[in-house]
Amino acid sequence: PHDTDADVLIIGAGPAGAAAAAWLAREGYRVRVLERDHFPRFCLGESLLPACMQDLAGAGLLDSVQRGGYQAKNGAAFRWREREATIDFRDRQGPGWRHTYQVERADFDQRLIRVATRRGAEVEFGVTVTAVHPDARRPRLTRIDEHGRPRTLTARFLLDASGPGRVIARARGLARPPRLAPRQALFSHVDDGIRDPAYDRDKILIAIHPREAGIWYWLIPFRGGRASLGVVGDPAALARHGDTPEARWQALLDAEPCLRDLLRDARRRRPLGELQGYATAASRLHGPGYAVLGNAGEFLDPVFSSGVTIALHSALLAAPLVARRLDGEAVDWAAAFETPLRRGIATFRAFVEAWYDGRLPAIIFHPRQPATLRRQISAVLAGYAWDRDNPFVRAPHRHLTALARHCGQRAPAGSPP
Ligand code: FAD
Repeated sequence: PHDTDADVLIIGAGPAGAAAAAWLAREGYRVRVLERDHFPRFCLGESLLPACMQDLAGAGLLDSVQRGGYQAKNGAAFRWREREATIDFRDRQGPGWRHTYQVERADFDQRLIRVATRRGAEVEFGVTVTAVHPDARRPRLTRIDEHGRPRTLTARFLLDASGPGRVIARARGLARPPRLAPRQALFSHVDDGIRDPAYDRDKILIAIHPREAGIWYWLIPFRGGRASLGVVGDPAALARHGDTPEARWQALLDAEPCLRDLLRDARRRRPLGELQGYATAASRLHGPGYAVLGNAGEFLDPVFSSGVTIALHSALLAAPLVARRLDGEAVDWAAAFETPLRRGIATFRAFVEAWYDGRLPAIIFHPRQPATLRRQISAVLAGYAWDRDNPFVRAPHRHLTALARHCGQRAPAGSPP
């Protein structure tokens, strides 16, 4: 008999929640995951980074992912007008993974949470956590099922992995306005119909609008001739391209010659999706009896596909600390979890800011760069944002600014490279 409903209650069964659940269940803790949706369910965040492979392995999830037969990914291709550039993770600086996958999240997330279930984690779908009562000794939460029936559960620790649900940040007043400007994304899945033999399916394609440098597109190829396609920009800038989301989508896709050409036989597989104001920040990521993982804490921007990598890294930082806590050790969550997690987030943030102010495009599209610097930048874009051996991790702003100047960037602030 136990005096709590679980050792650890986890809110949300996305990558962060599933990885934490899989890790803790493997170590024999009683884990219960509460997920609002029913899986499989659509989710954005389909292009992974090589650095997340080590965290998938650490949670014992990598074998299952590798059996998923996903589209391999070894880098990113960039387009702006006639210019092309490639970041290839295979020649990045540092040890570790040099490839990863592009995944349909409906399938990927279900795969991860199934591993946790097989290890003994109890997962409830269709239940929404509506209240949390953090407490150092015996935290509680309330969840309602689909008939509106509430139930309060107790645990010894809470992990909030609710993504945009942000259950604890909202309940505890930890939400902060993000530093990045609000942006909007329009997106869908397509049967891409791409037959061009020169097209490299092993890379995400990022294209910049030929006339409006603040607008960019993603094309993430999946297996089986399918792809995820999206466009991102300042909401007002996107709105100038049409009266309805459909009209904007069409006009924006027609405006980019590379995508227009590649996707001339494409067919949409999903209704057009629209999402806005997804960047979030939080004043703290831990407190008495709880820690906040992945997007439930902070989310930056989709441009460098950092979301799932940060989510998995946060889970793999937190899970062993939860175990130590449950075993009666004192844990310094600031030093062992929040500070190191935020270091990587800060690296990515510096890169995102440099993308939108034109420094990073100036660097990426510059035809001749010192190979060492390119390999260091490639390492950050591969997700190795925590590697202090890399000067672009230790002082990203300074090094990006200097290199952009070297690459001939004159006017910053939203200007084309
Ligand atoms: P999520 O995957 O969001 O999972 C959270 C889960 O919690 C959900 O299943 C939800 O149903 C559940 N939940 C929420 N509230 C409650 C509640 N109250 N009770 C119970 N359950 C709840 N990332 C990448 O790595 N690569 C990309 O290419 C990429 N592209 C993106 C494009 C856009 C436009 C956006 C907005 C994001 C993109 N991301 C990308 C980010 C990525 O989607 C997230 O970083 C990632 O899904 C975070 O994982 P998570 O586990 O923290 O949260």
